[in-house]
Amino acid sequence: MNVLNDERQPTDTCLLCNQRPATQRNSHIIPKFFAKGIFEGTNPRHGTRLSIQGDEQSVQDIVKENYLFCPVCEKGISVLETYCIRGLDKFNDIQYFNSYKTFKRGEFEYFECKILDIKIFNLFIYSIVWRASISNDYAFIPFKLIESDEEQLRVMLQTFLEPTQTALCNKLSDLKELPNHKHVMIRPKKKLRPPHAGLSAVSSSDKSIHQLYLVDYLILYLIEPIKLIYALKEIDNNNLKNPVRVGLGDPEIWKGVNLDFINNFRGSGIY
Ligand SMILES: [Zn+2]
Repeated sequence: MNVLNDERQPTDTCLLCNQRPATQRNSHIIPKFFAKGIFEGTNPRHGTRLSIQGDEQSVQDIVKENYLFCPVCEKGISVLETYCIRGLDKFNDIQYFNSYKTFKRGEFEYFECKILDIKIFNLFIYSIVWRASISNDYAFIPFKLIESDEEQLRVMLQTFLEPTQTALCNKLSDLKELPNHKHVMIRPKKKLRPPHAGLSAVSSSDKSIHQLYLVDYLILYLIEPIKLIYALKEIDNNNLKNPVRVGLGDPEIWKGVNLDFINNFRGSGIY
């Protein structure tokens, strides 16, 4: 059989629990929800995948990989995703107006989400950052945590992932400490269509700042808390006491930031 040496097999061990066989196929590295915007309004549905070398390829879906996880861990990740995505997405739904509170700080705005548990949201962010770091897909080559940080997030996930939301909620009272990191999530005030943004990820050369551009959302993940700029401190979600906060960017600035990123970085990703 013609199998590349680095291609994972179903007999390999799950990268999350390090125990069961990784028989799960088609695991998303980034929750599908984030990529929706790339494909909206395209007919036939497609996006463009750009490699580091600049090669382009038309794609219908975002990155999926086989044999990273066992089905139990895959289920645990999906419980986090289902819960958090619902909480994030309802911000645009007028019926859920009372579930959010918006704050203004000069030019800067953010909303607090009353229907999201901060502990589950932290696990959700860790699961995305960790998956992007362990991914073998070339879209995530520029994104990499150092091994000890990766392991710290893996252990958090292994300890707290549960196959149902009820079991997860019951487990949360044991979660008393988070890694000493910082992370913020920012989105445009109004979702842009076309999104003027893509899906890509990059880490700083010293591996202390990690950026995930997820179409309508940007996640900044900082290993060294001191590197979080003052203006964003209020929306740091790496804590156990505040409600989940999401920064709201001006749509024009948002467009500019993403286009700069795409043009200057010329990294791999899907647009
Ligand atoms: Zn597993």
